[in-house]
Amino acid sequence: MPEIDLHSHSQYSDGSLTPADLVALAARAGVKALALTDHDSVDGIAEAQRAAGEAGITLISGVELSAVWGVHNIHVVGLQVDTSNPVLKAGLLSQAGARAERGRQIGARLEALGMTGAYEGSLALASSPDGLSRTHFSQWLYEHKHVSSIQQAFDRYLGPRKPASVPMPWAELAETIAWIHAAGGIAVLAHPGRYPLTRTKLRALIADFKSAGGDAMEVATATEKPDMVRYLGQLSAQNGLLASQGSDYHGTPAPWIALGRFPVLPRECTPVWTAWGWPAAGMTADATQTIQQATGQKALELHA
Ligand code: AMP
Ligand code: MN
Ligand code: MN
Ligand code: MN
Repeated sequence: MPEIDLHSHSQYSDGSLTPADLVALAARAGVKALALTDHDSVDGIAEAQRAAGEAGITLISGVELSAVWGVHNIHVVGLQVDTSNPVLKAGLLSQAGARAERGRQIGARLEALGMTGAYEGSLALASSPDGLSRTHFSQWLYEHKHVSSIQQAFDRYLGPRKPASVPMPWAELAETIAWIHAAGGIAVLAHPGRYPLTRTKLRALIADFKSAGGDAMEVATATEKPDMVRYLGQLSAQNGLLASQGSDYHGTPAPWIALGRFPVLPRECTPVWTAWGWPAAGMTADATQTIQQATGQKALELHA
């Protein structure tokens, strides 16, 4: 069902496109339902909604929250969240403050390593200090030839335990799920195959996510190998979690990823969009029209 892409980024986090351009590109790529899921921000949703109306596609209001699980940083996607919900807004405000402060600290570390202008230069690539991401630092490091690739920026400076890494006081996993639920959304464990976890730890994460109230997990994402997609499909079914899919499109920071392009969900999975009343097999014209009414209500039923 490549026409349903439930993970993407705009300039309001570390994507390269404006929400309007992202939606237009999605429509051209044949995507009929797109979730905008910026890191710790819903600031792009209103613009994306307007653009989706013009392009005749469905926009799912989403967010990708940063969370801590033990020593690990984990991402939790919220789908069809009410962006005006005060609990979610308060959570996002505290994440934004932490992000802005971390940005200054990363900048100071890079400057101390002799990379003059790292903070100001990276900030110029971001929409605001609140949206300053390690992706922007990696881009600045690459553009100024301090590293030979984006990956090298993470390997040498920005990744865990590297010289410019700053441990983050992100919210706990259960808190991020609670914010999403407060906003009537569905909580999805993002790209479970991408964390540096053994299979045993990965199963523990998924079980913890489920016990903390999580609703779904991503099974089909653009960077996942077929074996991992099958394995995640099994884990979603075994743990009673709905299955999500998405490209995690960022534009120029990850040019190998295209909107609407990712593996097919394994048959044993229950697609997350069934929670919105869409048929498991995918969208119909009817489903597109009824999403606005159906989503809020179904999400509430799910958490009642
Ligand atoms: P932040 O939320 O500021 O900590 O930045 C996290 C973002 O950096 C992720 O969402 C990815 O887009 C990007 N990222 C993380 N690790 C890597 C990596 N090893 N290579 C390239 N991009 C990465
Ligand atoms: Mn990102
Ligand atoms: Mn992520
Ligand atoms: Mn993402």
